[in-house]
Amino acid sequence: MHLTTADVDYSLQRRRLLRDVQSGRVDVAEVCDASPYLVSASKFHGEETSQRCPICRREYLWLVHYIFGDELRSSAGQARGRAELAMLARSVRHFDVYVVEVCRGCGWNHLINRFALGRDNPTPEPAASVTSPASPGEVGHTSRDMSRPIRTDT
Ligand SMILES: [Zn+2]
Repeated sequence: MHLTTADVDYSLQRRRLLRDVQSGRVDVAEVCDASPYLVSASKFHGEETSQRCPICRREYLWLVHYIFGDELRSSAGQARGRAELAMLARSVRHFDVYVVEVCRGCGWNHLINRFALGRDNPTPEPAASVTSPASPGEVGHTSRDMSRPIRTDT
């Protein structure tokens, strides 16, 4: 997995993969391999979309947000709901969120987005990043350790 650029066009990969499935170059079983963990994560932390599954076209897709980062310690790699993401973004300086779409019907799953959250990152609302990857405050992107005092009023 290449993690060098901030915005990776996963939608392009997705389209390409779906085309390969339609043309028969890739077997359906290969792309509909959602693990039981992913399916249950979609039940506990998932967010239903109004988008139908591109494979079975019957079920709606669910989004699961996975969190990664050194500060998360044992929570790294776990799924989190949107409200929990917002809470973490206030308490943790930096963590990465991977958004996976999954179909509970046929097991189709694909990584669709990745973005950074946390107090060091200017995007407070994770939901907005799912549809529009460009964050408004991209200027401060490179200066990670601004010595601006951060107020913690808890
Ligand atoms: Zn499906």
